[in-house]
Amino acid sequence: MNINPLDILRKKRLGGELTGEEIQAFVRGVVDGGFADYQTSALLMAICINGMTDRETLDLTMAMAHSGDMLDLSDIDGVKADKHSTGGVGDTTSLILVPLVACCGVKMAKMSGRGLGFTGGTLDKLEAIPGLSIDVDIDAFKAQVNRVGCAIIGQTAELAPADKALYALRDVTSTVDCLPLIVSSILSKKLAAGCDVVVLDVKTGSGAIMDTEAQSRKLAETMVRIGNMSGKRFSALITDMDQPLGDYIGNALEVEEAIDVLSGRAQGALKTVSLTLGAHILRNAGVVADVEAGKALLERKIQSGEGLRKFAEMIEAQGGDPRVAWDTSLLPRAKTLIDIAAEADGYVAGMTTSDIGNAARLLGAGRLHKTDVLDLSVGLVMKARVGDRVRKGDALCTLHVGERSDVDGAAALIRRSITIGPERPEARPLIRAVVE
Ligand code: URA
Ligand code: CA
Repeated sequence: MNINPLDILRKKRLGGELTGEEIQAFVRGVVDGGFADYQTSALLMAICINGMTDRETLDLTMAMAHSGDMLDLSDIDGVKADKHSTGGVGDTTSLILVPLVACCGVKMAKMSGRGLGFTGGTLDKLEAIPGLSIDVDIDAFKAQVNRVGCAIIGQTAELAPADKALYALRDVTSTVDCLPLIVSSILSKKLAAGCDVVVLDVKTGSGAIMDTEAQSRKLAETMVRIGNMSGKRFSALITDMDQPLGDYIGNALEVEEAIDVLSGRAQGALKTVSLTLGAHILRNAGVVADVEAGKALLERKIQSGEGLRKFAEMIEAQGGDPRVAWDTSLLPRAKTLIDIAAEADGYVAGMTTSDIGNAARLLGAGRLHKTDVLDLSVGLVMKARVGDRVRKGDALCTLHVGERSDVDGAAALIRRSITIGPERPEARPLIRAVVE
């Protein structure tokens, strides 16, 4: 059917509801050039201003998912699960929950991304492991998931090319933070990646795409509703990003912290969120009756050493050195460590998480442009969390510095980001809400 872009634009400008055919024509036009960039940009703005119904958002999601390859994982046995985070700092949950969940019989077939801006990316972290490759073709990926139970690779197939084109235009037309556009962007890629069960970690706070809890909740609820309408099983957690999740920020450093959790040495927020996300996958896959039972099962996989062995097995399957799991000195390490000290006595009253992520980026752990080259050894280790009592001169954080690090810039950002006050701030829950 021939649908004129001007008719679609006019309808959405006037606040109308687009039909499935109109949405499909739009997405087709974005990919094949039938919609000029200025027409697409105008429609994106009209969608931002007038919104979309759930039906429109679902149609947009499905059309974007089908704009490229749809992975068929049916030759992998059992339930296939995936996890997605809206992006955070010290957010290493994938490296922990992927092997642990795989130990419980659910297949974790994960395609991850690289870090950009102040948020880290799982692929960059994995590349800190000597020899490990994230460039695995689809057949080898499926074979590894079947044999080992898990794999984390870079995106090889062309998943949701319409999203790539739309995102580039959203970026330059101030239409990124628009609910139906975020939902369709994230979900189209998850649906194209072919898993049956998906758990979403929607961050909230100063290092999150949505900084208020109300916005984060709306995003989580819409994604779960639309995701479930697509026929897959979705759940979402809304989790705190008003401070880094883990204490280690940087690529090799985050691998080290993940290994500390998998070994049973480290407790705390990173472990709690990882196990809770993993438990939702186990419950949604039918392995356990409820989330509490899922957390207990995952804890047993830590205590028995199975989780760490599974991590080593995944590393080895992807060409990496599995000894890293028991000897983290094999990871790249910065030679110079510099403490940032508290300038007053008091309590850690708050942190601007994005500044902390940006400090790690200035040290070389992250990129501003897609082409920036990382130093996988650098980053920072937080020594205090919100609510901790500190004395003047105590280390708040340790910078792990390399030759290309902007130490002064990073130190200034850290000082600006951590506020110390006379009173202990009220504790806020790590997991703000569960949406299912
Ligand atoms: N992540 C995405 O993939 N898309 C968005 O629109 C926002 C975050
Ligand atoms: Ca971490």
